[in-house]
Amino acid sequence: MLMFKFFFFLFLVSFNSYSYWQQRVEYKIIIDFDHKNHQFLGKQNLKYFNNSKDTINKVYFHLYFNAFQPGSMMDVRSRSLPDPDRRVMDRISKLNKNEIGFHEIKKIEQDGKSLKHHTQGTVLEVELSHPLLPNESTDFYLEYFSQVPVQIRRSGRNNKEGIDYSMAQWFPKIAEYDENGWHANPYIAREFYAPWGDFDVSISINKDYIVAATGILESKKKEKNKNTWNFKARDVHDFVWAADPDYVHDILKVDSEDLELHFYYQKTNDEMVSNWKRLQDDTADAFRYINKKFGKYPYTKYSVIQGGDGGMEYPMATLITGERSYPSLLSVTIHELIHSWYQMLLGTNESYLAWMDEGFTSFAQNITFNNEFNEIYNLNSINPLERSYNRYYTFIKSGLEEPLSTHSDHFSTNQAYGVGSYTKGAIFLMQLGYIIGEEKLFKGLRRYYNEWKFKHPDEYDFLRIMEKESGIELDWYIDYWVKTTHQIDYSIDYSFELKEKDQNKISVSINRIGKMPMPIEVEVLYEDFSSENYYIPLSIMRGEKDNSDNKLIILEDWEWVNESYQFNLDMSDKEIKKIEINPSGEMADIDKSNNIIEFE
Ligand SMILES: [Zn+2]
Repeated sequence: MLMFKFFFFLFLVSFNSYSYWQQRVEYKIIIDFDHKNHQFLGKQNLKYFNNSKDTINKVYFHLYFNAFQPGSMMDVRSRSLPDPDRRVMDRISKLNKNEIGFHEIKKIEQDGKSLKHHTQGTVLEVELSHPLLPNESTDFYLEYFSQVPVQIRRSGRNNKEGIDYSMAQWFPKIAEYDENGWHANPYIAREFYAPWGDFDVSISINKDYIVAATGILESKKKEKNKNTWNFKARDVHDFVWAADPDYVHDILKVDSEDLELHFYYQKTNDEMVSNWKRLQDDTADAFRYINKKFGKYPYTKYSVIQGGDGGMEYPMATLITGERSYPSLLSVTIHELIHSWYQMLLGTNESYLAWMDEGFTSFAQNITFNNEFNEIYNLNSINPLERSYNRYYTFIKSGLEEPLSTHSDHFSTNQAYGVGSYTKGAIFLMQLGYIIGEEKLFKGLRRYYNEWKFKHPDEYDFLRIMEKESGIELDWYIDYWVKTTHQIDYSIDYSFELKEKDQNKISVSINRIGKMPMPIEVEVLYEDFSSENYYIPLSIMRGEKDNSDNKLIILEDWEWVNESYQFNLDMSDKEIKKIEINPSGEMADIDKSNNIIEFE
């Protein structure tokens, strides 16, 4: 009987547990670096855990450096887009043999047996010697000979500020396999997605170099004229490093946050040094604020590394160009470090969900500026995203907008990707705060972080958290804002002609002109400057915005199929001066000219 009960209990547990799974990797990489020829030999062990329910017969690795060759998909795409990235343009097509990037796979084995493989551009296709069953692991061993390309995009040698090596996307990285199968996207322009795991990376490089990297420096051993730098990182999905002989390396301990901040930069001039010194305390302040507002950063180290070609996020580090004005240096640093939350810990599939990392990061960046650095950035505190809203309104007039759900490499213009992911993605959150209430939004964001960090959430995992937090059904919001380019436009009208002919009442009518339905807030301002806020929920929300402070007068639900909605206002006590839809500006109503009635 006891036995029976025990098994019954197990049975229940397994059925109740959420069926989420993710693959896992353990990399051990040894790099022998030749700084004279910008080439290296790699020896790479990869233990790969198949946590899926599928049997795997084939695996894929990304060979990102192969993108930097004339005729590559990245090259062709850049030369055929109407608005190519200025850093790329036709530069790849002009690289000579010594300037291109490549990975030549010398050997690949699975559990000691050599494997059939085929390189197609930036993707290495590998047939397994024996199938990898569910809940089993296998050991890969790779040897490769690689050349670091001249810096074109993100990664490479000799960036424009003279940083020797910016080593992002620099090793054969196994593609992600999830509930939607393989994601062996060729490297064309952007966005990364890879399995979680541990990295143990040893880099042997000429002794004059200072090496910065993801993870913790475990040891540095001298051998002849080289140092071997060993870094270990746990629970990350990428690994970046950079090297330069001229790096200054400053460390700031932030005891209150269990954090060490590392800064690597060149002493190019006095301004550069003073900016990078000033950056250190502000970065600590940013971490303090973001930890409180968005959830606690779990690693004990973060490095701001001069390098790359702008700003790019990596686990526990960023590569940013350093010769900037102070506001720009701080702003890019804050943007990239917030990616530690929205991408490095909440590891969404960026190819499809760039709006969830770039958009959420841009949102959090503006909130952080507004609350911590307002003397530098001076955002309008009523709507700290006002500039993003304006950028969106301007852009959609071009007619180039595409749905946010577009794969990030498949947008027809860079601009549509950029405004979509960064701007419309940031507005997604600000406007969600309008729908569910600001307090619920931030509580939900922290809950999303705590429940989904170290995993691969998608838009519905996020949505479910927000639904639980707010008690509001939100699928319609993603359906419209993410999957279509439908716009929001409401107008307001009034009439004194009521059926009951009551002279003291007016009938207000709100008209939906845009295709996207939204809950509506209406502010009524009286002659004595007092005001009242009316609120019309959508019936499809099955609930209302948080009104615990009783600031809203809640009206009947609006069934979205109706194009207009009427309600009455009583003017017997005081005269109305103005009636306005969307007074906070947090709803992205594209035409404000029809939002106000003024009485005079
Ligand atoms: Zn970003």
